[in-house]
Amino acid sequence: MSECVFCNIPKKTAEKMLYQDDVCYVVDDINPIERGHRLVISKTHYESMPNAPDEVVSHMFVVAKRFAIKAKEEFGATGTNVGVNNGKDANQIVMHMHIHVLPRYPGMAHRRSHTAFIGIPK
Ligand SMILES: [Zn+2]
Repeated sequence: MSECVFCNIPKKTAEKMLYQDDVCYVVDDINPIERGHRLVISKTHYESMPNAPDEVVSHMFVVAKRFAIKAKEEFGATGTNVGVNNGKDANQIVMHMHIHVLPRYPGMAHRRSHTAFIGIPK
């Protein structure tokens, strides 16, 4: 079995899969920055977004859009950050391409600056 945690998630039955198709799957982030923080993860291993084919990136962003809409419906989010960290220096933790869908809520003004974007520890 691969040592990549994101390659292994689809092989586990215990992990809650929120969505999946031939290209990608969606799970809750195990270390959510906000309630409803989710990850869109490619089924094929690409180290980061620049390594992935255009059609995979395009498809995954459409899925991310759907989950941005769901964040409003499910959690009452009033905004979302949708984004990708590419490389360790950009705070990419798992070296397998994924898109963060991060719901935002009122009263979080201190987190709205660009320095509070995805993956920065609380
Ligand atoms: Zn992987």
